[in-house]
Amino acid sequence: ASVENDISGTDNKGFKGHDMLAPFTAGWQSTDVDPLIIEKSEGSYVYDNKGRKYLDTLAGLWCTALGGNEPRLVEAATKQLNTLPFYHSFWNRTTKPSLDLAKELLDMFTAKKMAKAFFTNSGSEANDTQVKLVWYYNNALGRPNKKKFIARAKAYHGSTLISASLTGLPALHQKFDLPAPFVLHTDCPHYWRYHLPGETEEEFSTRLAKNLEDLILKEGPDTIAAFIAEPVMGAGGVIPPPATYFDKIQAVVKKYDILFIADEVICAFGRLGTMFGCDKYNIKPDLVSLAKALSSAYMPIGAVLVSPEVSDVIYSQSNKLGSFSHGFTYSGHPVACAVALEALKIYKERNMVERVNSISPKFQEGLKAFSDSPIVGEIRGTGLILATEFADNKSPNDPFPPEWGIGAYFGAQCEKNGMLVRVAGDTIMMSPPFIATPEELDELISIYGKALRETE
Ligand code: PLP
Repeated sequence: ASVENDISGTDNKGFKGHDMLAPFTAGWQSTDVDPLIIEKSEGSYVYDNKGRKYLDTLAGLWCTALGGNEPRLVEAATKQLNTLPFYHSFWNRTTKPSLDLAKELLDMFTAKKMAKAFFTNSGSEANDTQVKLVWYYNNALGRPNKKKFIARAKAYHGSTLISASLTGLPALHQKFDLPAPFVLHTDCPHYWRYHLPGETEEEFSTRLAKNLEDLILKEGPDTIAAFIAEPVMGAGGVIPPPATYFDKIQAVVKKYDILFIADEVICAFGRLGTMFGCDKYNIKPDLVSLAKALSSAYMPIGAVLVSPEVSDVIYSQSNKLGSFSHGFTYSGHPVACAVALEALKIYKERNMVERVNSISPKFQEGLKAFSDSPIVGEIRGTGLILATEFADNKSPNDPFPPEWGIGAYFGAQCEKNGMLVRVAGDTIMMSPPFIATPEELDELISIYGKALRETE
């Protein structure tokens, strides 16, 4: 199946002999596959319950930026657990780690001044929170009809009802009666797949911005509240924006007083070679979603950053409208915040952005050197994120028959050779931890080459 239709794992089967209903797995049958049970992690590697070692090229699930056994994160968690394992952050009560983390995030995010941080447990909850903030904002401004969201085809924004609606992958909509009616989708900015004959990247971006504007005009600008985008699309197939794309899109969004939400859940904290994806593409967002590398995934935590323009409206109107009645028991969980604070400290102390920039050319160039393979359609990526899409004749119009299972076969060869990759149909995705060494990247490239030869 192509990435359009299937973002489940290497296959669509359940876990044989186990009781767990696993995410993105047809676990109801519970008859089909032996799950790979991961038991231990160390640096860029994980080990299964049979003692086999794998290079984890996905960093968990695009998230363990500091690898598998960073002692400072364990210490930060232990210290906080020993002092205050939990207190909530509702009403007028909170904890110091959550206040400190909010301040730290606002200081770190410099693409545009941000005024407030709201904590969640995940990226999906961060994006759900965005919808409520934007609706509250427009209600506060007396614009009750300005409520629709525009997201993009192939976006991934999470799997709760609202974040799955924002997601632009049919697999998350079909069978769930989604997307919700207030969500519209515009073009996926994948130049290789969607450009017209002879069209340059700039011309492609111009056309997509025009399509966005046409959609806004058709729906009525007064009904469109916000546009949401990942700086580099992740789970939809690792799709970096074409040249001039975000400049042109931002101009349209601004023209119609539509808020820009940057979903930085995968891109933030160095993965693209800049602290945030917004820095790389000159995005000036009104709202930002964070999760994953925020704590290097050692604890579940997400966050929303809110610009002063939005938070001022919410603050000034809340006496009239009532409080922003939204939040989770674990919003600002002190242990998660303490771990995130330590992760951010490490990113800065160890110059992780520079580190990513120093190792990513080997990763990108080493893998893109395989572009000549007859089964490779496109290898694309930037920084420490990359996808390989298999296709016949190097053409997006000639996918291999799904029943051949090229992607799944390639993934299985990687696994056999001691490496885990993300398989989605015939697209293979990788996002190694920031701490990967040049030697580990050599190993990654070598196993990739071997798996590719075995697949050809
Ligand atoms: N947004 C993006 C860009 C993501 O990649 C993801 C998860 O992969 C999410 C949101 C959802 O995050 P979570 O799985 O923590 O709910």
